[in-house]
Amino acid sequence: MVIVMQADATQKDIEQVISRLKEAGFGVHLSEGTERTIIGALGGNREALAQQALEALAGVERVVPVLHPYKLVSRELKPEPTVVKVGGVAIGGPEVVVIAGPCAVESEEQILATARAVKAAGARILRGGAFKPRSSPYSFQGLGEEGLRLLALARAETGLPIVTEVLDVRTLETVAAQADMIQIGARNMQNFELLREVGLLKLPVLLKRGLSATIEEWLLAAEYIMREGNSQIVLCERGIRSFDTATRNTLDLAAVPLLHRLSHLPVIVDPSHATGKWRLVAPMSLAAVAAGADGLIIEVHPDPTAALSDGPQSLTPERFQGLMLKLRPVVAAMERSIAGAEGESGR
Ligand code: PEP
Ligand code: MN
Repeated sequence: MVIVMQADATQKDIEQVISRLKEAGFGVHLSEGTERTIIGALGGNREALAQQALEALAGVERVVPVLHPYKLVSRELKPEPTVVKVGGVAIGGPEVVVIAGPCAVESEEQILATARAVKAAGARILRGGAFKPRSSPYSFQGLGEEGLRLLALARAETGLPIVTEVLDVRTLETVAAQADMIQIGARNMQNFELLREVGLLKLPVLLKRGLSATIEEWLLAAEYIMREGNSQIVLCERGIRSFDTATRNTLDLAAVPLLHRLSHLPVIVDPSHATGKWRLVAPMSLAAVAAGADGLIIEVHPDPTAALSDGPQSLTPERFQGLMLKLRPVVAAMERSIAGAEGESGR
């Protein structure tokens, strides 16, 4: 349950509530907002501490039973949106943040050319897989540590922070040493051990929706991370499996406004994996921003026809630049900002 304190509740009032909760065996999570303090009570013995008893305590405005199985990630516990900082870039604030780059890092030339191009067009964060989760063991598995080194090189040259995927606990330390943001891919959304481990890090996490994950399962995955102390989580809708194979996945755009209601975490959209077709990337990007997405993650390759993975859904740098321009009026209609062609943030 969630205990909403009155705006003028004193520190002593808050401490009294906390100590009563602890006596009844609850774990306590404090959310100190600008307006008021909200106390989350996790687990514990509900019989030992009735709602009415809590409501009678000084400084308590109301006690709200939380019906969802997730708590820390819920809006009830934290009404203000969470802003996640990646390098100097804020996701979940007024700016719509575009992350772009290749599916996989393939060579120094490829990642540097892509990084320069997407930065010039207004991307704020560089993506690129070094450790790749491929459906087939015979497909290109990524350059591994060499890929991380090349990403760091691209960051040093362009100043763009980097997001890259971690596949398992074994390589987490290696990936975390280079990444500005750790990506948990769709296939790992319920790798609970990995979720716990990234929860212990201080790095922001990009948590993609599992291929067949419900919204509730997805938020519970985020709860695993947050429970360990890391609240810097960005949710990424990347399409789900459906009966229709005309597109690679089915983009669930309703997830964006729904998640914004259920959770305080920022939500971004990946139209590349959601559709699998480059022609659909621009229209779905516009739709995602109109639905309230806090950002986009888009695959860009200097020569998609020669890409070692996901070429058919990758934009050329020119098409990416065209998309950035098309986004501007939609971003303005949403009363948000986006980085411009010179990397400037403007309406
Ligand atoms: C990726 O971003 O390259 C990727 C593999 O995405 P997903 O986990 O969403 O399939
Ligand atoms: Mn990909």
